[in-house]
Amino acid sequence: MTRQHTVIDGVDVYWEQGPAPMIATLTFGCGVRDESFRTLGVTHLIEHLAMSTLPRLHHEHNATVGIEVTRFFATGRPAQLVDFIAAVCEALSDLPLSRIEKEAGVLTAEGSAVCHPTAGVLLARRYGIAGPGLAPWDGPGYDQLPAEAVTTHAAKFFTRGNAVLTLTGPPPEGLRLPLPDGPRMVHEPTPSLLTDGPQWLAEEVPCIGMSLRGPSVSPVDALGLQVLSHRLTEVARKEKGLSYGIDGDRANADPSTTDRFVWVDAREGQEAEVASILWNTARELATSGPTQEELDHELAGFREMVEDPRFVDGDLDEFARSVLLGEPYRSPAEWLEAIAAATPAHVAAALAESLRTALIVVPSEVRLELSDLDGKPVPLGGCATPEWQPQGRVFKPSLLARAMSAAARGARLHLTADGVALIDGGDRHFVRFADVVGVLAQNGSRTVFGRSGCLVPVDSDLFAGIEPVIAAVDAHVDPGLVFPPSAFAS
Ligand SMILES: [Zn+2]
Repeated sequence: MTRQHTVIDGVDVYWEQGPAPMIATLTFGCGVRDESFRTLGVTHLIEHLAMSTLPRLHHEHNATVGIEVTRFFATGRPAQLVDFIAAVCEALSDLPLSRIEKEAGVLTAEGSAVCHPTAGVLLARRYGIAGPGLAPWDGPGYDQLPAEAVTTHAAKFFTRGNAVLTLTGPPPEGLRLPLPDGPRMVHEPTPSLLTDGPQWLAEEVPCIGMSLRGPSVSPVDALGLQVLSHRLTEVARKEKGLSYGIDGDRANADPSTTDRFVWVDAREGQEAEVASILWNTARELATSGPTQEELDHELAGFREMVEDPRFVDGDLDEFARSVLLGEPYRSPAEWLEAIAAATPAHVAAALAESLRTALIVVPSEVRLELSDLDGKPVPLGGCATPEWQPQGRVFKPSLLARAMSAAARGARLHLTADGVALIDGGDRHFVRFADVVGVLAQNGSRTVFGRSGCLVPVDSDLFAGIEPVIAAVDAHVDPGLVFPPSAFAS
């Protein structure tokens, strides 16, 4: 079967015959990476507002918001799909803004995330609070999203030009897509804030994780991570009984660049051991390559997946992404061919290349000693501004903070001509006023969030005499970026 194309109401429609029942997926080139810290959650709120208008339906239907795309999808008889698609489009053209408050509460209760929290932290360290790096953050909270942010975002991204409908059968009679007019959006690439070289991080994460940055469509890179996951399952889970779950994902910073993740859970107290197994297994694979038997196994598994008639839907999803986001597309046959042609040496070379970009993350209290492929120690990374040199006016901890904790006694808040900084033990966090992405304001305190991922607590409970710092923050930061605490904050 080949993929067919038509245009209905200005929307690109692609379809390929799959097994019944038919699946319809309306994909928009809009995800969390298109938001800002101040508008975090706006896409999810739009999705909820649209879905809240649907009547009770007796066929399978749902919607998801990811890092790059938002999807509305349903399975059912053709007439049901026609009704579903029309209802979603009509809702997106005329969002029930009066429901914002209610849906804000629902979304807070739902507490969903666009990716695994371990992957989210890795993205935030690589990209800061922008693009895919927005993934792990909550932002100001759903109740702090202004209605005009909802309407502006919907008008920009939820349009006929920025949508693709895919179907696993011919377009049913009466199919309409009454979406507002608008162009296909161009998504600004998000640059990496890190220089190359593997680094490890100690952060608030539930699992041990690793991210590798590489080309977005790369069968050898995908193969390397598949083999790595299987080896980890053998060693960390079956042989040593240290882990139960091993999983992975990916996220795109631009059409040609992907972060690929693998994360592994660990029995309490075994985190450093599991992280060493993860890194050393990857190193070993990058040095000696997979065995031919491992590659044959991956090829057989991939063939099994793509030859399943239900795979049509997954392939259409990939194709819709490529159309909307300008990502390169390879058909399942092309993937199969590339995987069959990959040799152990290809896979090793690709993995060795991507291990230079590796970020490894472990829970905060864990310490690691790892060496890179050249035998040099892998350094501990942190936020992107450790090179900042102390300067400006210095504020010391308040009496209360000093009384409460020994650690707080060494902390210093700095106010410079162009920003604020926190020195906390060996860590330096500097946020330039021009790079502020949000300020949480509550009586007598400001929490300043920076583009690089640093946050500086200008907090009267922590530091004494900080009125001048608060005045400087208020004077230099766009008032549109300042928000009060969410009523839902715990
Ligand atoms: Zn920092």
